[in-house]
Amino acid sequence: MSAKGKLRQAGLAVTREGFTDSLTGLGNRLALEDALLQAQAQAQESAGRGSPAPALLLLDLDGFRDLKKSLGHAAADQILMTVAMRISSAVGENDVVTRLGGDEFAVLLPATPLARATAAGNRILAALEADIDLGNETVRCRASMGLRVAEPHQAPGDILLEADMALEEARAEGRNKVKNFDPATLLARQLQRQIVGELGHAIDSDQLVLYYQPIVELATGRLQGSEALVRWNHPEHGLIMPDRFIPIAEASGLIAKLGRWVLRSSVAQLATWRRDPETAHHDFTMRINVSAPDLQSLEFVDDVRDALSGAGLPPESLVLELTESAIIQNNELDRYTLMSLHRLGVGLEIDDFGTGYSSMGYLRKLPVDHVKVDREFVRDLGKDETQLKFLAAIQQVIRSCGLDGIWEGIETAEQAEALRSIGCTSGQGYYFGRPVPGPEFTEQLKRQRAWPG
Ligand code: C2E
Ligand code: CA
Ligand code: CA
Repeated sequence: MSAKGKLRQAGLAVTREGFTDSLTGLGNRLALEDALLQAQAQAQESAGRGSPAPALLLLDLDGFRDLKKSLGHAAADQILMTVAMRISSAVGENDVVTRLGGDEFAVLLPATPLARATAAGNRILAALEADIDLGNETVRCRASMGLRVAEPHQAPGDILLEADMALEEARAEGRNKVKNFDPATLLARQLQRQIVGELGHAIDSDQLVLYYQPIVELATGRLQGSEALVRWNHPEHGLIMPDRFIPIAEASGLIAKLGRWVLRSSVAQLATWRRDPETAHHDFTMRINVSAPDLQSLEFVDDVRDALSGAGLPPESLVLELTESAIIQNNELDRYTLMSLHRLGVGLEIDDFGTGYSSMGYLRKLPVDHVKVDREFVRDLGKDETQLKFLAAIQQVIRSCGLDGIWEGIETAEQAEALRSIGCTSGQGYYFGRPVPGPEFTEQLKRQRAWPG
């Protein structure tokens, strides 16, 4: 061979090496990008003839890291090689199978419409499900898969990125299935990220507001207290309801900051109402909603104590509402926090009672004083005769545990009357008043001249 020929061959070897995954012998990320470029160019050429675009499948083994930890490197490599082989035999000979690193594989299907690409993805997942024999033991591998059918002129990096987003969705759904890239989901995610980004700033720049909803004595309609409900007064989007940002705040860790803001603001408002003789009432309580992550923070009890003493308020003027699921987590720290709050003297309340999965047994065991029965129960009042009997039984259990029951979601006079008839004493709902901003609630307090104290 001529020197030139040898050189060319060496160059080829180098190139091939740079394009090959040494463990499995499949192409690597560079090979994939190269193949994507070529497939896109081909698609461009035949665009006029109605030929479909290339599709990219991206897959990732579920729980591979744990598997590797428990089985060791050699076994992990063996699994990866088996996976590589199974993927290769599940696809056609024009399809390009590559390993991008770790347990991530990609398959490029040239000129493949969505339905066929999805079918190919499912074939691969099915092939992966069979036991893998490692000699002394067998393991099973499952995978999540994202799919992106390329847009005309879309760059390989972007196709890969969007296949990866679809993969992330597939993983989030926790199922052994192929997930197609969906721009709407992406938009929802972007919006979520935007909310997280803006919420921190919103808390600092006074964009959050508290609305107050009355809690009344059912027999007389007298105001006993209020529940503080947070809203986000967004400069562009207007008033945003808590259901849209509380879950995001909880998931992102911003909830601690938000919770502190709610605590301080509601306590300050209560102190203002108590100071003014026109709005003061000695046993008026403020209720705030507390998220599960707050209970896991060691500072939470201090925050509550400081907020109350800073405002010069007795602890029993504040009631913390916690959902069943937050309160029942079998966590030492949670229980410790609950006991500390109880010792501090603030009221503790189970919110949305009846929607959780737990038995009533815990009502006697936990240091709670109040139970707020979920509005679902009141909503079903009047549907049939047994419902009222059922509610009477709930009320009796609450009473016999020495707890104070509050019934939420009362929207009509009939509902209020029915609850009164079975001995319920406190209620909350649109019938008595919707949540309103502080100044409006102040007016309600002033109108209630019949109060003592
Ligand atoms: P929640 O604690 O169950 O609060 C009661 C919700 O029911 C409020 O919705 C209230 O406006 C609504 N409501 C009150 N009366 C009626 C009625 O008669 N009929 C109907 N259909 N609904 C009624 P909102 O203000 O949208 O709050 C939703 C949830 O957001 C709250 O549910 C609570 O879980 C959470 N949340 C609100 N503020 C905060 C907060 O400051 N911190 C935390 N962690 N969560 C909060
Ligand atoms: Ca509540
Ligand atoms: Ca509730």
